[in-house]
Amino acid sequence: MPSYEFRCQTCGHQFTVKIAWEKKSSVTCPECGGDKLREVFGSIFWSGGANAAGAGGCGGFG
Ligand SMILES: [Zn+2]
Repeated sequence: MPSYEFRCQTCGHQFTVKIAWEKKSSVTCPECGGDKLREVFGSIFWSGGANAAGAGGCGGFG
């Protein structure tokens, strides 16, 4: 089941819920119970290799 991150418009609480996509509209804030939630897209976990490319060039000490 996918997880979504929401931020409450009422109290500003940010939380993650694991819920089916079609039930996203029924999510309420666990802090204040408000239903004015905004989905947060910026903090999606991207899995991938974080390899530093191009560290240095021709490393020659004379
Ligand atoms: Zn809230």
